[in-house]
Amino acid sequence: MHLIRPESHLGAARLYHGLRRAVARGEVPVASSLVHTGSGGRRGTCRDTRSEPPMPGLDFQRLRSEIPMAEVLELLGFVATNGRGHQLYGPCPLHIAKEQRSRRFSVNLKTGRFYCRECRRFGNQLELWAAARRLPIYDAAVDLCARLHREPPWIHRW
Ligand SMILES: [Zn+2]
Repeated sequence: MHLIRPESHLGAARLYHGLRRAVARGEVPVASSLVHTGSGGRRGTCRDTRSEPPMPGLDFQRLRSEIPMAEVLELLGFVATNGRGHQLYGPCPLHIAKEQRSRRFSVNLKTGRFYCRECRRFGNQLELWAAARRLPIYDAAVDLCARLHREPPWIHRW
């Protein structure tokens, strides 16, 4: 069984050489869509990972262990209406509560976990920040560190 037919292989090679000749003649703009113009988008990132270095890795475990849930709650302006010890209840920072003194959002400062009985969202402090800021986890982590004036825990591979 042939997965690649020889004639299609040949066709691709011919197309490639044809394209190279066209590029040499200046007929084809070289990878114009891949050129990072710097207009819009986020600084230092590029969709094309072939021409830009990949985004550095983040040590999420370290980030979660170093940033307490209380700091994230403070940034979100959370004020507990009820609770005792590490367990707090109050209005959910992720949705607008119907009752003013809602306590459907519960959070444990020791475990760093939250749960909302109304919007049913739950997770750790980073997931709370990501949900509140409507950001993917990676972006939320970088954003959270910036808000707390911390250096993100980059994973250095050297
Ligand atoms: Zn909620």
